[in-house]
Amino acid sequence: MWVLIASSLAIDSPSMPRMGLLRNYHTHTWRCQHATGEAINYAHEAVAAGMEVLGFSDHTALPDHRWANVRMRMDQLDEYEAAVRAAAEAHPSLHVLLGMECEFQPEFAAFYRDELLGRRGYDYLIGAGHYIKVDDRWLGSFDHARAPEQLRIYVDLMVATIESGLFTFIAHPDVFGCCNPLWNADCAAAAHDLCAAAAATNTPLELNAYGIRKPWVDGDDGPRPAYPWPPFWAIAAEHGVRVVFSSDAHRPQDVSHGATELAAIRDQFGLTEVDVLDLLVRT
Ligand SMILES: [Zn+2]
Ligand SMILES: [Zn+2]
Repeated sequence: MWVLIASSLAIDSPSMPRMGLLRNYHTHTWRCQHATGEAINYAHEAVAAGMEVLGFSDHTALPDHRWANVRMRMDQLDEYEAAVRAAAEAHPSLHVLLGMECEFQPEFAAFYRDELLGRRGYDYLIGAGHYIKVDDRWLGSFDHARAPEQLRIYVDLMVATIESGLFTFIAHPDVFGCCNPLWNADCAAAAHDLCAAAAATNTPLELNAYGIRKPWVDGDDGPRPAYPWPPFWAIAAEHGVRVVFSSDAHRPQDVSHGATELAAIRDQFGLTEVDVLDLLVRT
């Protein structure tokens, strides 16, 4: 485990012992079709890494089966929940939570509120914007939220996601770092609008370490992670937005990745980190 963490990215001295995340609320399973491993495998890695809390948040099933190739099916909800329960029972020292990573659209709000948070008793939902609607077609926002028109569509979607009040935090708000290599005025306007909505609703935004593990982008000052994108977080700090750390694990061995790298960004901009468990206890 330590070897894997140490080999992932050397921001500080490689000889320094590297801590993993102790709490992670963004964890996938094989059911989303682009992750590997069962819940119990992630829990096992988490315990081996000395973690305290593990929240599962696979890509949600959707009632109309939209974007079906990157998520579980509706008929897998019961066994996803059973797999998370089994992971918890097998690892009593780990606080395991049941969540989902969700795409906000108004037509899904009742499903999220009444079925997942309501009848099924999910602990929390994460809001994410993986798709934007451009000229009546759904496009991936990671590749298509480019300045200016499509970036604006992404921001409007994320503001609606935040304002829905359904989500405990917002995943990788700065994913437009994937397809906008250079920071510009449109990126700054997008960041201001998104962060203003987060601040107004007191909704934390996620510093997501998956962007560090993905191929890097040729940016203003050479190669940089796709996300987190530092200029976005400078603006988040201006707005007083609070942040959540996530590994966004799609493989069990990544479950605690990112603590050092995310803490560096938090500290560079003086961001305030919050723990999801504290948010859930308070509300
Ligand atoms: Zn995913
Ligand atoms: Zn995710």
